[in-house]
Amino acid sequence: MSDRLFEELLEETKRLFVEKFGTAPQTLVAAPGRVNLIGEHTDYNGGYVFPMAIERCTIIAASPTTSSTATIFSNNMGAVAEFVLDPDVPPAEKVEWTSYVQGAIALSIKKGAKVPGFNAVINSNVPLGGGLSSSASLEVAVATLMEELGGVSFGKVEKALMCQQVEHVYAKMACGIMDQFISALGEKDYAMLLDCRSQKPEMIPFVDPSVSVLITNSNVKHELTGSEYPERRASCEEAARRFGVALLRDVSLDELLASKDKLIDAENGDRLFKRAFHAVGEDVRTLKTAEALKIGDWETVGAQMYASHDSLRDDYEVSCPEIDALVDIARNIGMSGGVIGSRITGGGFGGCTVSLVKTDKVDEIARILKEEYKKRIGKDATTFSTRPAQGARVL
Ligand code: ADP
Ligand code: MG
Repeated sequence: MSDRLFEELLEETKRLFVEKFGTAPQTLVAAPGRVNLIGEHTDYNGGYVFPMAIERCTIIAASPTTSSTATIFSNNMGAVAEFVLDPDVPPAEKVEWTSYVQGAIALSIKKGAKVPGFNAVINSNVPLGGGLSSSASLEVAVATLMEELGGVSFGKVEKALMCQQVEHVYAKMACGIMDQFISALGEKDYAMLLDCRSQKPEMIPFVDPSVSVLITNSNVKHELTGSEYPERRASCEEAARRFGVALLRDVSLDELLASKDKLIDAENGDRLFKRAFHAVGEDVRTLKTAEALKIGDWETVGAQMYASHDSLRDDYEVSCPEIDALVDIARNIGMSGGVIGSRITGGGFGGCTVSLVKTDKVDEIARILKEEYKKRIGKDATTFSTRPAQGARVL
């Protein structure tokens, strides 16, 4: 199934390249999107995240030319753009798809890639803007192409950090390190436990083929006022300050519970405590999940996922009725129906859920999720299943 999708994407990309540029491409690279199994809203607290690469990726087909520019067609955008190979061209005011590409080219050149003129076709089967990090997969794919065309190797961690800079500077999005790390360093049959403070990844085997990851898109995205994320961050920072540490990562659950009153006051009520309780508890859950996954203790993994969801819904307050419905439906199917665990994934207020499911029941579970979601919410959910996939590579 997944192999078929990949082959289709690859063939289409090659075909488009021939159509646009008249010859077969010399170089092909791919970089995947990702899903976070657990560890939500922990990155900016210096905590842990636990993503894996998915079997959806961005493929780029390219050939060097004698020109001094790059001509790049994005099949997803249905648009072609010309890029100057000058790293000192400032980022465009308005962020567009070209911003990600220009940024990855520019920073690669700054890092020493001797990039010739080239033609390229970009083609992705990661849904754009669907919370599965099509943007990181694009950045990492372009950076991988720059290594190939530019005769250098950045090293995977360096490449990921460079792509994070692309997102910060060129896409003007203050993201953490997770998306670019997992797209660059992901490995087939492994999830990645990433310590966001030390930036040290640990690859955790996820080899049991009888378990798959089912991603369900609620296809809703709630309008935000803009104050939601800053409030969560500010609350975490204030909580850390009251505990005398720089990051909530350094407060243990015991410490937090023993000195709960530090975070409760007339102005905030128990809001600061709830935010901190999520962030601190989520680190505990994430570490527990990684340990349990190592030994195939699926019951524990599932329990942590549900607990994560409840915490994000009740204490961090970043869920929404549609996502809650999807998790509730999955929970009702339960272990006997093949569902191990389920939770919201991504920043919140819509987007996707991630569920661990028995591979042989995945179609049936997807059917029930869609049917029940339609009944309860009146909207169509979309699903796809995946196993942990390979990170960026030259094909
Ligand atoms: P997500 O990363 O969750 O998919 P983002 O909003 O961060 O959502 O990134 C989506 C944006 O990334 C798109 O709007 C587009 O500008 C750019 N992008 C991603 N994939 C491609 C692609 N294949 N071709 C062109 N632009 C892309
Ligand atoms: Mg993104």
